Amino acid sequence: MIEEIIDSFEYIIILKEKNIKTWEDIFPSFYRIAKNNIKEIKEHGLLDDIKKLLTYAKALEKFDETNRNKIFDNLKQYIVSLKEKFLVDEIIVPPEKKLSLFTDIKYVKNVGPKRAALLNKMGIECLNDFFYFPPRDYEDRRKVTKIFNAKDGEKVVIIGKIVNYEEVKINKDLTILNYSVEDDTGIIRITFFNQIYIKNYLSKGTIAAFYGKIEYTYGVKQMKSPDFQVLNTQDDFQKEILPVYPLTAGLTQNIIRNISREVVNQTFFLEEFLPNDFIEEFNLLTLKKRLKGLHFPLSFYHKNRALYSLKYEEAILFELAIIYVKLKLKENKKTEGKQIKGELSNKFIDMLNFELTDAQKRCYEEIKNDLTSYYPMNRLLQGDVGSGKTVVSELAVIDVCEAGYQSAIMVPTSVLAKQQFNRISKDFEPLGLKTELLIGETKENDKIAIKERLKNGEIDVIIGTHAIIQEDVEFKKLGFVVIDEQQRFGVNQRLQLIKKGNQPDILVMTATPIPRTLAMTFYGDMDVSVLDEMPKGRKPIKTFLVPDSKMNSVYRFVKQELDQNNQIFFIYPLVEESETLDLKNATEMYEKLAHVFNDYKVGLLHGKLPSSEKNEIMDKFMKKEYNILVATSVVEVGIDVPDATVMVIEHPDRFGLSQLHQLRGRVGRGKKQSYCFLIIDKKINRETRQKLSAFSKTNDGFKVAEIDLQWRGPGKFFGVEQHGIPEFKFLDLIEDFSIISQSRKKVEQFLVNPDDLKNLERLKSELKIRYGNSIELIHVL
Ligand code: ADP
Ligand code: MG
Repeated sequence: MIEEIIDSFEYIIILKEKNIKTWEDIFPSFYRIAKNNIKEIKEHGLLDDIKKLLTYAKALEKFDETNRNKIFDNLKQYIVSLKEKFLVDEIIVPPEKKLSLFTDIKYVKNVGPKRAALLNKMGIECLNDFFYFPPRDYEDRRKVTKIFNAKDGEKVVIIGKIVNYEEVKINKDLTILNYSVEDDTGIIRITFFNQIYIKNYLSKGTIAAFYGKIEYTYGVKQMKSPDFQVLNTQDDFQKEILPVYPLTAGLTQNIIRNISREVVNQTFFLEEFLPNDFIEEFNLLTLKKRLKGLHFPLSFYHKNRALYSLKYEEAILFELAIIYVKLKLKENKKTEGKQIKGELSNKFIDMLNFELTDAQKRCYEEIKNDLTSYYPMNRLLQGDVGSGKTVVSELAVIDVCEAGYQSAIMVPTSVLAKQQFNRISKDFEPLGLKTELLIGETKENDKIAIKERLKNGEIDVIIGTHAIIQEDVEFKKLGFVVIDEQQRFGVNQRLQLIKKGNQPDILVMTATPIPRTLAMTFYGDMDVSVLDEMPKGRKPIKTFLVPDSKMNSVYRFVKQELDQNNQIFFIYPLVEESETLDLKNATEMYEKLAHVFNDYKVGLLHGKLPSSEKNEIMDKFMKKEYNILVATSVVEVGIDVPDATVMVIEHPDRFGLSQLHQLRGRVGRGKKQSYCFLIIDKKINRETRQKLSAFSKTNDGFKVAEIDLQWRGPGKFFGVEQHGIPEFKFLDLIEDFSIISQSRKKVEQFLVNPDDLKNLERLKSELKIRYGNSIELIHVL
């Protein structure tokens, strides 16, 4: 293919740039490529261009270094311009009727209500959905292969004349059509099964193009049920690259291709929405060209450019949307920056029985800067389990209280709220700060009293679940909200907080470390601080894969630990026996383990218990009234039990790696060596075992997240209830990291003020179409 030939020239250039080839190598290499492909070059009318290319290449041998580099640049430019020759012209079709992006797909020619229903099933409702419906592959039908040259197993286009034909009725269920097709080099047999209607198209004397896989058996070349196109003459064949779409029952590839042709013809009314700055900076194809290139590319180069451009389109729009939100959140400045004295926090630091890590000091500084500034803080604090996020947030809370404001700390569950309350109120008491707990179970009378005191400003710090900001809770002077959770706290919720009148600073802490790409995308509207250092003296948890046949040795190990006054978790994927899943469950195993370890106290914790009972059980475990806790993944987040040293997880393949990491993080909180056993049964496949084995070899949550993300993709990685995750059609969050970060940089230059979008109506409407719902842009745009 011609663009592959041009690619080969470009490849030589790359080799030179990497110093694999020398200046003197270029001309001979170019010459060889040109010579070997002279026929194709002539066919495309490129002879003069290639000659010019060779002249450049020859010149490189003669000149000195400075001139060489100039020529080299020209040469590269020239190759790029050659490539551009193979891109489409703008599609110009006169408008027949008024179309819009939202024209129902059923009105497109060849569609109608029945096919529209099938397309709807694939997520295509309107014209715009089809514009961005990516083929899963492409078929190259530009090259016609002579029958003589067609190789066994190859997918090729053959053009020939039907010289013979027979219909064979094998039995009442099977009728075969056999055609003999001839070109000037040989003959091939073409067979169709139970497709009698094909007789209407193909008969003796018909000239046709056939596309299919060659099978070569007993000296006979064959094609079974190929795609075909009847031709008037041999030259009639339309050479093109065809899209291969995902299908659904009732739609064939040919039907959907015909629809697609029609749809692509309807792109004439589209206007580019990406600002020119971006098109130029990243050398993108314009809208119509990128869509044409997606569906019916003129060359593979065109296709690649189109896909590359669509990736940028996606990244740019997404970054525009989140940066817009970020700017919008900052638009309402705080009335005052907080006056941080730091006396109380210094006192607190003196009271700690450890030294802050450098990472903790750095993150604390970043937060303090936000607190004192006039822009409301909107910050994410990321850090692995046990990296000491709570201390950092406590320091900030203390500063805020000292400056005369109240703080709210929100956690996802009431179990955690209680634990955090116990810890924080103890820490804050000596500082003279008043802390209260407000959760669902708080008695009604107490609730009323607490709300009253919040309103009067008698409480400095309130700890609880989300309810504390959603209910009719009023503060005297709320200055700071800490959200300790792994779920995404939506833009909308943050806007609600802002609308409450005051402009509290917001710090979100994630328990799940996420890879940089994702942090940038999903928390892109926030500033990010990372605790990338563990407190000193922590012993890494030792993780082992253990076959379930060796369970007894795990029990023996657990027994030893228990005898040393340590505590144990056993985790199961199910609460109770399931009819459909052959898995161990917490309830039955609780009975069994209570029997195995009958010298010790065993507790059972799962999500089906009422939350007051959950709290009680967790409390008892923390107070060592239980030595063993048998549980489901409800113990996942934030629980801190210093003497817990062993985590046994059965059916670990039932959990995501990030979740396993969270679970594992429940042990190793103190100074003792801790262990995690993943119990593997025989049914676990090799891939999963490899994944778990990779997991067992690292204690780094960021690494775990990367493995997890690669394995499961971003949707599952975040879990189903996650909101705020747009689906990308073209971007791969891992592979396309550089596209995302380049786009982000450029968007940050482009969009400095929300008003910068003011006159870009087309862009704004495109942003609404894409991200109106998923990132709640609708509320601000
Ligand atoms: P995270 O919330 O990030 O999982 P925590 O803030 O709960 O972690 O801290 C885990 C444990 O480590 C707590 O017991 C805490 O007191 C302790 N800790 C925090 N920072 C340090 C430090 N710099 N040195 C030693 N221990 C620390
Ligand atoms: Mg924590």
